[in-house]
Order: sequence, then structure tokens, then C-alpha cells
Amino acid sequence: MEAGADWIHCDIMDGQFVPPITFGDGLVKSLRTLGNTKLEAHLMTNTPERHFEAFVEAGCSRVIFHAEATAHTHRLVQALHGLGVEAGVAINPGTPAGSIEPILDFVDLALVMTVNPGWGAQKFIESCLPKVESIRKQRPDIQIEVDGGIDPTTIRRARDAGANVFVSGSYLAKASSIAEGLAELRHACGSR
Ligand code: ZN
Repeated sequence: MEAGADWIHCDIMDGQFVPPITFGDGLVKSLRTLGNTKLEAHLMTNTPERHFEAFVEAGCSRVIFHAEATAHTHRLVQALHGLGVEAGVAINPGTPAGSIEPILDFVDLALVMTVNPGWGAQKFIESCLPKVESIRKQRPDIQIEVDGGIDPTTIRRARDAGANVFVSGSYLAKASSIAEGLAELRHACGSR
């Protein structure tokens, strides 16, 4: 927050949808008290709808669930809008963009995973970029987020494909400071 990130992206893992377990709404609630930076929850969980209310109450402005975790993407988008927050839908590297095509007109954001969800410090999967291109073609106005392996080189590739929201973890953690890491990323993709 102090380094000026636009958003804080909270990776919620349940030990079921993905093997690791991270943290829940309690930690997000604590983050909320530290500043005004917008928070989003990326729910890598089964039955994501069971957690919507908790993360909205904890202070998230956007909640992202995985298309693979539900048979009812459209209904879950409606549920999030009913709670007054932005709705995002995420797809894993092995899931085609076409699987979320029917709901792209309803979501605020599509998250294209550029690594397999569950662990940090993985290598960017280049073959995910055509999915970004195809979603961008269908929805010129939507937010398209990429998550996994984002550094100054891959951020440019993702931006060229049509992404406009970028999640970075390991790169920022390794940078000499988070502020400098953010500046490098913004410079690399021509933002500010
Ligand atoms: Zn994430």
C-alpha cells in the first residue's frame, strides 16, 4: 500500500481446489484497516459462493471465482453484483477461453491464469496469451487480468495481447523495494 500499488490481490486457497491453504477473510479484514488501497479476493476454492459475503464484508471491492469451480458462473456473477461488488471470473491454463465466452457480457473482469494456480514463483506460460487476445476481441471494454510469472518482460507480452490488469508477487518480493519493482513494471508496459 505504501509503495503505491493500485490494488492488493489476495490469493485465497482452500486445500481442495488447489492443494495449498493460504488465509481467509480475517486476514483481509486486517489488511483493510491498514489503508485505502482497493482489495480483491481471488478465490481458488471449491463452492466459491459460500465465501462471497465474508470477503465482501472484509472489505474487498472485487471478488474473482474460478469457472472450473462451479457449474453456475452466470448465477455467481449475479450474486456478486447483488452484494454490490465487481465480479471476476478466472480460468486455469488448461481451460479454453471459449468456456467463459457466454458470460463475458456480464462480468467486470476476466482473469487468465498464466501459471497453474496454487504456488508462487512459477514460470509464465506463454501459450495462455492467445486466450487474452480472444477475450479482448470479444470485449474491448472489459478488464482482463493476468496472474502468474509477471515481470517486466512478460508484462509487455501480456499487455500486447490485450491484458490491462497485472498481478505480480515474486517479482515484487525480489525487487530492491516494492516501489522500485512497481515502477519497473509500469515502465515496461508503458503505464505512467
Ligand atoms: Zn491470484
